[in-house]
Amino acid sequence: TSNRHDKDKDVNVQVVLRCRPLNDEEQRLNVQKVISCNEQKNEVTVIQGMMNKQVDKTFTFDKVFGPKTQQGMTYVHAVAPLVNDVLEGFNCTVFAYGQTGTGKTYTMEGSTKPKGQHLSVDAGVIPRAVRHIFDTLEGRKADYSMKVTFLELYNEEITDLLATEEQARLAEDRQRRQITLMEDGKGGAVIRGLEEVAVYSVDEIYSLLERGSAKRRTADTLLNKQSSRSHSVFSITIHVKEATIGNDELITCGRLNLVDLAGSENISRSGAREGRAREAGEVNKSLLTLGRVITSLAEHSSHIPYSRDSKLTRLLRESLGGRAKTCIIATISPSAHSLEETLNTLDYACRAK
Ligand code: ADP
Ligand code: MG
Repeated sequence: TSNRHDKDKDVNVQVVLRCRPLNDEEQRLNVQKVISCNEQKNEVTVIQGMMNKQVDKTFTFDKVFGPKTQQGMTYVHAVAPLVNDVLEGFNCTVFAYGQTGTGKTYTMEGSTKPKGQHLSVDAGVIPRAVRHIFDTLEGRKADYSMKVTFLELYNEEITDLLATEEQARLAEDRQRRQITLMEDGKGGAVIRGLEEVAVYSVDEIYSLLERGSAKRRTADTLLNKQSSRSHSVFSITIHVKEATIGNDELITCGRLNLVDLAGSENISRSGAREGRAREAGEVNKSLLTLGRVITSLAEHSSHIPYSRDSKLTRLLRESLGGRAKTCIIATISPSAHSLEETLNTLDYACRAK
């Protein structure tokens, strides 16, 4: 019998867990902690007292980051290996999955403001990945180009977070240009109408990221969206010229997708409350479909259940499966108040492993 752990090279799905610290308010209120992280053994234990009896539950992951783990460590262990693959011409995707308020956005974006020449200690995965890519390619004196897109997926509708207001207005003048997702006939997807921005420096990406995040916040407020119900996808595509043979250029192309998923508390249980049934339903479907896709990838199943109903998996299709690598960063809170959602997250993340 062979399972995927016998041959490490074949493991294309990594699941890591990150537990945030108690925040100031929780500390002030002396909130009880129910999570214990063992970073040496990569285990997380949920401590539950039940009728005077201690019922602990332990989960193992590819990597466990406790509350004290800084952004840099998370990046180096969970994401840097994928970025190295992207630089070799592969497609990779990093997902942040977890309950709202557990650190998905902190992990993916964090503070984007650089401190002079240096990244701030709070800088998350996106700015670190960008830095890593530029530094590597500059170091190799490579001939390369880099493009980014940043979109939000809400209720199965795509919003371009990088389109400037002027572009958006122009688009409306021309018979309301809709952003549509289409199959490219080669098993991938193309998004028509999405702004692809060429970037030439780290600083440019920081300002794009700021612009996109700000737009996400205002659009959410204006349209009364609940941001916890939207997914955001930041993609970096890199072309590197490897060689010139006669008149032909040998170019490798790799893509990195960095996905901040909708809050996992939206899965099923929240149901039809507050007349938000459709949104909850869509989030539910996309997170469950994603879970099934990732499970079958991890099991090397020959049938990957990409669903036509889920734009998220259709969008990422080329970057999931095959030789593409995927990392899920599951985020949890240590607080007793989040116990139920924490157990749900741990179960989902374990199933993806
Ligand atoms: P989410 O995107 O999952 O809803 P956020 O990323 O917005 O959660 O995090 C909620 C709050 O907790 C933010 O104020 C964030 O700065 C803080 N936070 C999250 N994770 C950490 C961490 N690992 N260390 C320190 N602060 C964190
Ligand atoms: Mg968030």
